[in-house]
Amino acid sequence: MTAVTANPAPRSAARPDTPPAPKALPDAQTVTEVRHWTDRLFSFRCTRPASLRFRSGEFVMIGLMGDPDPATGKQKPLLRAYSIASPAWDDELEFYSIKVQDGPLTSKLQHIQPGDQIILRPKPVGTLVHDALLPGKRLWFFSTGTGIAPFASLIREPQTYEDYEQVILTHTCREVADLEYGRQLVEQVRSDEMLRELTEGGIDKLVYYPTTTREPSARTGRITDLLRSGEIFRDLGIEGITPETDRAMVCGSIGLNTDLKAILEGFGLREGANSDPAEYVVEKAFVG
Ligand SMILES: Cc1cc2nc3c(=O)[nH]c(=O)nc-3n(C[C@H](O)[C@H](O)[C@H](O)COP(=O)(O)OP(=O)(O)OC[C@H]3O[C@@H](n4cnc5c(N)ncnc54)[C@H](O)[C@@H]3O)c2cc1C
Repeated sequence: MTAVTANPAPRSAARPDTPPAPKALPDAQTVTEVRHWTDRLFSFRCTRPASLRFRSGEFVMIGLMGDPDPATGKQKPLLRAYSIASPAWDDELEFYSIKVQDGPLTSKLQHIQPGDQIILRPKPVGTLVHDALLPGKRLWFFSTGTGIAPFASLIREPQTYEDYEQVILTHTCREVADLEYGRQLVEQVRSDEMLRELTEGGIDKLVYYPTTTREPSARTGRITDLLRSGEIFRDLGIEGITPETDRAMVCGSIGLNTDLKAILEGFGLREGANSDPAEYVVEKAFVG
């Protein structure tokens, strides 16, 4: 088993052939790949600062230069919180983003192309990390929309499979096309030889449970309803969630997070934090 530390350096941090990011912007990183999934969703990859250490599941502030101030002509960085969707060992960074048509940042960010620069403040933080949970047997990742981003990191993190006997990723979106990033990611994880080697085959423990709320699909319904009715447990052949065996991470809208907190506490799980690990942790996928 390759040694993977809790906070590793990128695989190619010291590679002499990695070109340094041009420094026209403060904390500039260069976009290497962009994929548009729907008219509301895209993902992109960029260079990673050699000095950036983070734990899989954390978020950083990223952005672009804002428009010049009409009075002074000066430009200020326009930054937003973004979960890092790539795992801590990856030599690049990946992000999965919404396109808000009148959003100050994403109305522009959605047009980035390979070779463009983005700003990345290298101060990762967040609660969706292994350190914030007590040891358990089964780990649930509950996500809606772009809330899958931190779990895109964590399902590629070897520690996830070392620490748990079963890992269940739920992703709920309105339409089938909104699930495609997650679907392809799970497929890629399951067939990734390097990840298989790093986890000694542990990725077979990964269960994927996608649902839609608006468009009919193989499984429809809000995750909160599926948990309350017990349908998800019947689907997966699981008796239920208990504080003895189950741990959970939640990332969605504020409403979803509030409802899921109540459901998980109803099962007897307590909310944890980096400084006080417990049975579940929550983070907002966006504010508003
Ligand atoms: C901890 C944290 C992590 C985040 N990680 C991500 C991420 O990985 N990917 C991502 O796309 N966004 C993420 N966000 C949201 C992100 O910070 C911005 O809000 C988003 O990029 C839109 O920026 P904007 O300037 O275009 O519009 P904003 O002015 O920031 O938002 C405008 C409105 O758009 C809606 N909105 C914003 N973000 C989303 C979203 N992700 N999904 C659905 N509706 C949204 C809200 O109603 C919001 O009021 C995160 C937010 C937080 C707090």
